[in-house]
Amino acid sequence: MAPAEDPRFERDARDRLGQRCVRSLVAFAAGDVLVTFGAAAVHDRPSRMTLQVSQHQHIELTPAFLAFTNHSCDPNACFDVERRAVVALRPIAPGDEVTFFYPSTEWTMASPFECHCGSARCLGQIAGASQLPPGALSGHSVAPHVARQLAQRVPPSSGAR
Ligand SMILES: [Zn+2]
Repeated sequence: MAPAEDPRFERDARDRLGQRCVRSLVAFAAGDVLVTFGAAAVHDRPSRMTLQVSQHQHIELTPAFLAFTNHSCDPNACFDVERRAVVALRPIAPGDEVTFFYPSTEWTMASPFECHCGSARCLGQIAGASQLPPGALSGHSVAPHVARQLAQRVPPSSGAR
């Protein structure tokens, strides 16, 4: 049987562009767990709707509405892949859209896009952590598998090392 809808989140919410999004109907404080998540299915490649939880695992999220969580370069939540929990990064008010920073979990995204989040920190093209210049991830908490891959990344050849 499908799990019950979570009444704390608006069902079939839309953002200002008419895109599906996740909107909270209740308040959360920074550090609160909004919801815990699990895997409806596990894949070895990313798709538009998956969340990367380790170097080779991409999950279809349950509860399913979480797949509509949009990206922001200045997010109010993060997906903690170790605790399997969506955690508030700052206070969230009723009516706020819930967003997270896709490159915090996604190394190489299946569906890159041009971000128009409007944040002063907006990075523009969002294609996964592997595609960002060094330093673009500073200030963002990233999942352990992303941190590991960043540490292993061969620095671009500077020619004069
Ligand atoms: Zn942005």
